[in-house]
Amino acid sequence: MSIKITSNYSPNFNPIKRKPNQIKFLVFHYTGMRNDSVAIEKLTNVKSNLSCHYFLKKNGEILLMVPGSYIAWHAGKSKWKHYKSLNRHSIGIEISNPGHEHNYKPFSKKQTQSLIKLSKTLIKKYKIKSQNILGHSDIAPERKKDPGEKFPWKELSKQGIGLWHSLSIQLLKKNRKIELDQVSKKIFFNNLSKIGYAMKKTENLKNRKFNNYIVKAFQRRFRQELINGKIDKECLIISNNLAKKFA
Ligand SMILES: [Zn+2]
Repeated sequence: MSIKITSNYSPNFNPIKRKPNQIKFLVFHYTGMRNDSVAIEKLTNVKSNLSCHYFLKKNGEILLMVPGSYIAWHAGKSKWKHYKSLNRHSIGIEISNPGHEHNYKPFSKKQTQSLIKLSKTLIKKYKIKSQNILGHSDIAPERKKDPGEKFPWKELSKQGIGLWHSLSIQLLKKNRKIELDQVSKKIFFNNLSKIGYAMKKTENLKNRKFNNYIVKAFQRRFRQELINGKIDKECLIISNNLAKKFA
């Protein structure tokens, strides 16, 4: 598998080296900026305090911005399972896409092809588990929507990159928008915790709002046809299926 990577370094990283076995996650992002050059300028500008390890241009070209042995600044405040501040434990990949704020577009075929090659290389190099391949919104749901509902998670999972459910489209459609009782909602939230989302106890409004962001993050990732923040039977059966796989 040939993979061409060009260096385009960012000064934004933690200068203390980390060991390869500290790297447990791949985190996918979209840039949320109008085009490649605006995004590259930002991610390599010392004033932005932002960076990533790899940058995928619109045409699929891969840029190395920070070598994997250093911590790049891509995830910010974040949480997954018992991990906090995922930067320390992850490789961050930024994929050029204008994002929800600038007319969100499908990812290009060439970007997806490059992402598959790059991810396979990194999974092998750092022995990254399938359940540790995440989107930015999974680990920072109240702040982030990226990589969003157009991200090809299903296609990637077929290549062994990340987890996906094993339910038929017909079954899912049949259960879409069917309301749930309180007991089933509890099961759903419990499943999200098992998957790794940082669910909060629902005793106050602030926590319930936070959990609602998690519901949307879950939908952007696993029920991309309808992002409405409402839990229905389709969400429940997907979460049942995934809770076992992520365990
Ligand atoms: Zn991001």
